[in-house]
Amino acid sequence: MLTFLDSMSVMKVERVKLNLIFQSLAFKLGLAIFLMASLLLSTLAIIFIHRYSQEVDERLHLQALIPGKLMNQQAIAYSMVRDGAALSRLVGEEVVFAIVDQPDRTIYFSTSPEVEGESSDLFHDHMEKTERIVTDNNSIIVRKKEGGITYLYVSTPLNADGRWLGDLHMKMSTGNADSLKRRSAVGFFVGFMVCILCTTVAASLLVRHLTVPRINETVTCLKAVEEGDYSARIANISSTDELAALELGVNNMIHQLERQNFHRERISRELKEAMEEAEKANRTKSEFLANMSHEIRTPMNGVLGMAQLLKDTYLTTEQREYIETISASADNLLKIINNILDLSRIEMGQVDLNIDTVDIHRMVDELQLFFTPAVKKKGLVLKVVCPDDLLLVRTDEGNLRQVLINLMANAVKFTQKGHVEVCIERVEQEEKECSLRFSVSDTGIGITKEAQEIIFKEFQQADGSHTREYGGTGLGLAISKKMVEQLGGNLVVSSDPGIGSVFSFILTMKTDAPAPPLPARGPLTKPEEGEQFGLNILVAEDNKLNQRVIVKMLQKMGCKVTIVENGKEAISKLKLSSPPEERPHFDLILMDIQMPVLDGLKTTAMIRAQEEGSGKRLPIVALTAHAMKGDREKFLEEGMDGYVSKPVRREELCETLRQFR
Ligand code: ADP
Repeated sequence: MLTFLDSMSVMKVERVKLNLIFQSLAFKLGLAIFLMASLLLSTLAIIFIHRYSQEVDERLHLQALIPGKLMNQQAIAYSMVRDGAALSRLVGEEVVFAIVDQPDRTIYFSTSPEVEGESSDLFHDHMEKTERIVTDNNSIIVRKKEGGITYLYVSTPLNADGRWLGDLHMKMSTGNADSLKRRSAVGFFVGFMVCILCTTVAASLLVRHLTVPRINETVTCLKAVEEGDYSARIANISSTDELAALELGVNNMIHQLERQNFHRERISRELKEAMEEAEKANRTKSEFLANMSHEIRTPMNGVLGMAQLLKDTYLTTEQREYIETISASADNLLKIINNILDLSRIEMGQVDLNIDTVDIHRMVDELQLFFTPAVKKKGLVLKVVCPDDLLLVRTDEGNLRQVLINLMANAVKFTQKGHVEVCIERVEQEEKECSLRFSVSDTGIGITKEAQEIIFKEFQQADGSHTREYGGTGLGLAISKKMVEQLGGNLVVSSDPGIGSVFSFILTMKTDAPAPPLPARGPLTKPEEGEQFGLNILVAEDNKLNQRVIVKMLQKMGCKVTIVENGKEAISKLKLSSPPEERPHFDLILMDIQMPVLDGLKTTAMIRAQEEGSGKRLPIVALTAHAMKGDREKFLEEGMDGYVSKPVRREELCETLRQFR
């Protein structure tokens, strides 16, 4: 079996080699030369053979006339026709039959004496052929095939003293001449074949010697270039023929490529360096933004929290107005910080989509609730159109929600009367996929054609006066557009100034099971005035200002609060290593993330490790100014149960406490 396989692979290799030979230039050139030589030499051979056979025939004709000539010169007697063998020797061919007749066609002498005295008409009939040859002395030669053998019929007039005495008629074979012709033809053919072969071999070797090495060198050179060696060149170009021109061209081309490669390498090196620097700068920017966010959010926490607490005290109308302004400004500042953070994260490509099952219906309901107060305040109508039978879809809910919030907030902001409409239409529904068109339209101030070109760019507004009039930074649409692109859509606008605007995009999403009927979950509510929770809460927070805000808020919600400065203090306060009856009871921990001594994440990890096996789990809610997207998921992964972002809002805190009541 092995030997069979071996021989198969050997045959395969041989076939490949053979193929390579047949495809080689040397073989093709040799073949061309062979064909040319064959054509030329064969033509020559045919001409030669034809000429030679003509010569043989002419010689035979001359010989056939010899007996007649000799009789006319009276060198031999007429009666010699009776001696067929002597005649055959004279003409060099076998004389089959010969007669001498008289002018009245009576046979005088013959190789067959029995016909003497008879008529020679039969012989004369043979001579009537059209293709007969008439020679100088009026002899007639006729070539005739009988039973596959060629014979010559020869008639020579016999004269004496100027008088015609009769004719010598001979029938002779052409066997000797024919075999001579055949032998010569074979000889010629073999000779020419040898010539053809010799010519082909000699010419092929010459051509091979003159061209193939040079072509091979060119090919080797080009292969080296293909593999990236631009220093390869064809050496010793001494002749001035076409191949030399080709070689010079190839050398020139490689030289150009070498130069281009040098430039390209330099540019890509510079690009790489620039990119590394840009990435470094981006990283620095990102770190700076994260730190800045934390640093700004922490005091903002104090400002917003205190403002909220202040609102609940007895104030004069003027003081209340000031506090409202402080709250609104702080809110705006926070939005700007959030926007800048979002945008820079998207630009750095750091936003991973968090694809999950989304109930669009529920999301739209929540948005409606969220915007109802603002819409009412402006005397507008908020319309929501959404098909009842929407399936659950797979997308990034956070991104989609933020885009719709941005668009709806703009629609409310730039509309003085009329309505704002959120519309979700099904564009296409397939078995496992659906395309939905999301649009937010309004009857507001509208956007001119020129402004439509720029509003999706960062920090661009349709009109410079908008910041003054309506506030905003020109970042919302830029972020929304990028987020929609991440979700696989394209945010577009159509608008008529003075009539209104429509912002829309289509998303194609995978579908899940049909959306379950909305649970009996109540609508989002504002915290009920004076809602009391009666929880015992441990707060780990190092910032004094934040401590004051959170303590006040929690106390107002009827909670008992214990404050610790860092994670280490929190752990010792929990006394997790003591017997259960000696441990203080807490319903919840609000845990700052960045704290000195022991940070929030490490503290959580240690608490979870100590809890292991006890069957108990103390809820821990992250309390942090780390507001970047994805942080929530990170904290939950690290063992926390919830997330409240700073600046802490009373509503958000209430929602969280409700979960752990
Ligand atoms: P911002 O609203 O914070 O200025 P955006 O990026 O959200 O930033 O919007 C950019 C600009 O586009 C706005 O300043 C406004 O000029 C225009 N614009 C956005 N939405 C609307 C709308 N619904 N009607 C009229 N103009 C709008």
